[in-house]
Amino acid sequence: MNRDDMLAGIRERQEPWDLVIIGGGATGLGAAVDAAARGFDVVLLEQADFAKGTSSRSTKLVHGGVRYLQQGNVSLVMEALKERGILLRNAPHLVRDVAFIVPSYAWWESPFYGVGLKVYDLLAGRYGFGKSSYLQREAVAEAIPSIQTEGLLGGTRYFDGQFDDARLAINLATTAWEQGGTVVNYTQVVDFLKDGDGAIEGVVASDLETGEELRVRGRVVVNATGPFVDGVRRLDRPEAAPMIAPSQGVHIVLDRSFLAGESAIMVPHTDDGRVMFAIPWHDVVIVGTTDTPIDEVDLEPHAQSGEVEFILETANRYLAKPAAASDIRSVFAGIRPLVKMGDGDGTASLSRDHTILVEPVSGLISVAGGKWTTYRKMAEDVVDHAILLGDLESRACVTEQFPIHGYHRNAERFGRLDFYGSDAPAIQRLIDADTHMAEPLHPRLAITGAEVQWACRNEMARTIDDALARRTRALLFDAEAAVQAAPRVAEILRRELGRDASWAQAEVEAFTAIAAGYQHPN
Ligand SMILES: Cc1cc2nc3c(=O)[nH]c(=O)nc-3n(C[C@H](O)[C@H](O)[C@H](O)COP(=O)(O)OP(=O)(O)OC[C@H]3O[C@@H](n4cnc5c(N)ncnc54)[C@H](O)[C@@H]3O)c2cc1C
Repeated sequence: MNRDDMLAGIRERQEPWDLVIIGGGATGLGAAVDAAARGFDVVLLEQADFAKGTSSRSTKLVHGGVRYLQQGNVSLVMEALKERGILLRNAPHLVRDVAFIVPSYAWWESPFYGVGLKVYDLLAGRYGFGKSSYLQREAVAEAIPSIQTEGLLGGTRYFDGQFDDARLAINLATTAWEQGGTVVNYTQVVDFLKDGDGAIEGVVASDLETGEELRVRGRVVVNATGPFVDGVRRLDRPEAAPMIAPSQGVHIVLDRSFLAGESAIMVPHTDDGRVMFAIPWHDVVIVGTTDTPIDEVDLEPHAQSGEVEFILETANRYLAKPAAASDIRSVFAGIRPLVKMGDGDGTASLSRDHTILVEPVSGLISVAGGKWTTYRKMAEDVVDHAILLGDLESRACVTEQFPIHGYHRNAERFGRLDFYGSDAPAIQRLIDADTHMAEPLHPRLAITGAEVQWACRNEMARTIDDALARRTRALLFDAEAAVQAAPRVAEILRRELGRDASWAQAEVEAFTAIAAGYQHPN
């Protein structure tokens, strides 16, 4: 994938595109893959980097959602469990199953959660990941050697999926491109093109690297901007009532010594009724999350006061080795675009399902809500709507059985590079070709310079943040180490992109400012 080629393709195009998609998160990228795979001409415009928004900040679970079962939302859970199975089939290099243990410290907990999780198994049907079972106290302690054993009675184990969210986003972008789609980052939609009746005919976008204005005409325009969906709707209709209510979730990252073993801990009910996870991921442990309603949406949301303390305090009840604020390697926040039912007024309830809304005059299609796990189904629904609205040729969705870029059935054989799937051998060749590029970026980060080179040459990485937050996950693994690695990454990017020393210096400063939001003051 090459950004200059993508932009040239946009400039040269005379015909309107079949679909113009705004937003390069899970929802927009999924829609781009779906549309391109059906043979439509599709262009996707992302204002920042692919997955810069919510889609790189999730808990990284491919799951049915045990908590929605508690709320009695059986159809939502069934759909997500089916999608979990489809994603494992289409991207086996990225999805793995993880054993989750619900520890019990009160006599009623195991039978209570045991029954619920049996229902979860049943709903998964042929898409099941493994059967849930009751575990004796000793078995829980064996599976999670670092669990708090005082008062522990036993636990219930069930299985769910885990993935790397930003990597899946990049793989989806590549898949869309391989199918003939055009996807471009750092291109912000700033206005709509309309005909005399007010119907949308395309968008006006700005290349944020050069300031060039692009006029991109399309038969249908899809607004897939997640937490920003209402802001983009207001470009079309300033009086539009909000479709979503944003809610912030925060995670902290610790080293693996706090959660030894391969199993995760799941706490279905924290003090304030939330779900808490502690999950091994790559070489770290992710602990979270919170759920705090917010007024303003930001591309770089920050943990609010008390959120990190709440996570630490809750987690420490279950960990034998308590974590202190100084043990936190990184803190990341993401914004859930929860859909308001009806066209949103203040009393609206919130849904975890996705919603598609078509503006009556302009015909703008907005899609929001849902979750990463169900991105493919959301994409299918929104492209079906686009076909009707744009009077496009009726073509069936093909993504249920459609390998995603990187597909590899035995990616474990690539060791640390396993999550690159079928790209791993090419990255290994870059590592082998140059001893300097084979060196880790930092003593605490195994990531090599060759991976930054790869990201720049093949995955449209443009900034240090792209390379360290999403193409690799260094910023999430260890924010301080990522800042220390930034000058070396800037040097590699500078050479690959043909920039000068002042560009590199400005990049280091910009990344240091971003990374400050991931470093918890202790
Ligand atoms: C804390 C948290 C934990 C979660 N955990 C899970 C989980 O474990 N499993 C799961 O399945 N789901 C999870 N989710 C849900 C999942 O992450 C989201 O549903 C999904 O990422 C939303 O994707 P999106 O594409 O709709 O939004 P985003 O990823 O936010 O993408 C929208 C994009 O639009 C771009 N954009 C905005 N305005 C413009 C413009 N004018 N021009 C061009 N581009 C624009 C933004 O830059 C952004 O990249 C979690 C969510 C949160 C917040």
